Amino acid sequence: MRFLFLLIFATSALAQGPEAISVLERRLIALDAAEVPPGPELRLSLAYLDQSGWTAESITAAAVESARILSQCGVQLKTMELIRVAAPVRYRDFLTPVSRELAAALQLSKPTVYFVAGTRQRPAFDAEAIGRGNSRSRPELSDTVWITRSTRDLGVAMTHELVHVIMDSGEHSEEPGNLMRDETAPGNTHLSQGQCERLRAVGTANGLLRNR
Ligand SMILES: [Zn+2]
Repeated sequence: MRFLFLLIFATSALAQGPEAISVLERRLIALDAAEVPPGPELRLSLAYLDQSGWTAESITAAAVESARILSQCGVQLKTMELIRVAAPVRYRDFLTPVSRELAAALQLSKPTVYFVAGTRQRPAFDAEAIGRGNSRSRPELSDTVWITRSTRDLGVAMTHELVHVIMDSGEHSEEPGNLMRDETAPGNTHLSQGQCERLRAVGTANGLLRNR
């Protein structure tokens, strides 16, 4: 799958002073339209923390893999916004109280995937999904995914977490090769027909997938 970087613009400070959180750069990534399936559209915000070790290239490659995996459910992922964020060092790891502040300051469109350095949550997960059901006490984090640098099989792991968010469900599958197996692995990319139907139905009902 090919992709284009469409647009670049820079620096809008959201706050002043030493605690400033600011957007350094926004890029719109458009995937090749010929490979986009008909069906509801997912528009993703992909935010990464400057100096967290993440690059635009690795995130874009993961997003291209996500588009390919989600296409089996007829879900289109054809445009994504890649946002590079500058923030004080305490925001570089996922931790509910500070990550809430980060999300509140940035006000990015959802679903949002945040690429962070690590996690200070306990228990510590390499990647976490926060749907509606598990965000009542932290509404800023609803419909977000947090991915640390320890995450293996990045494209598969990111898509696994996104499916949790879009389905608003923490459910796992025991089916061999299924994307929603508890442990992600490079070959685990399949979604059943029932999972695809729920993904489209819940995602559309919650406004995370849009029918054109
Ligand atoms: Zn999971």
